[in-house]
Amino acid sequence: MADRTLLFVKPDGVKRGLVGEIIGRFERKGLRLVGLKMLTFTQELARKHYEEHVSKPFYPGLEEFVLSGPIVAMVWEGDDIIELTRTMMGKTKHTDAAPGTIRGDFAFSTTENLIHGSDSLERAKIEIANFFKPGELAA
Ligand code: UDP
Ligand code: MG
Repeated sequence: MADRTLLFVKPDGVKRGLVGEIIGRFERKGLRLVGLKMLTFTQELARKHYEEHVSKPFYPGLEEFVLSGPIVAMVWEGDDIIELTRTMMGKTKHTDAAPGTIRGDFAFSTTENLIHGSDSLERAKIEIANFFKPGELAA
């Protein structure tokens, strides 16, 4: 199986009507969409997904934000999927994200930065399983 990653459009992206814009960029790049759903984070899922950040000072604000509305979770497949999707997302901080990237073009906050993407294949496996059952993904 080709490499896969877990991406989600955060609540700000859903509220701002940027779901189609974001999905379209990955489609036009030639990546394959293999899973898609809208859901709302629970506190339990947020703590699991962001386990590396739970003890950091910004976590309470991040948790409040990700619980603030529905997200659109996706699994994408393709060569060099992690590096490619991270490049297309742009840097975490809105002020560092280059124009032409999703965050560079649309984000004006470090917390509300529109999109999540797994940062390694190991994390992608864990994160995909946090959001999708195997039967919910295309073969
Ligand atoms: N975040 C934040 N303040 C910070 C750093 C990160 O609110 O100082 C939020 C932001 O939404 C970010 C998420 O926490 O996307 C996860 O942080 P990470 O460093 O993993 O960035 P990412 O992998 O999303 O680029
Ligand atoms: Mg991260």
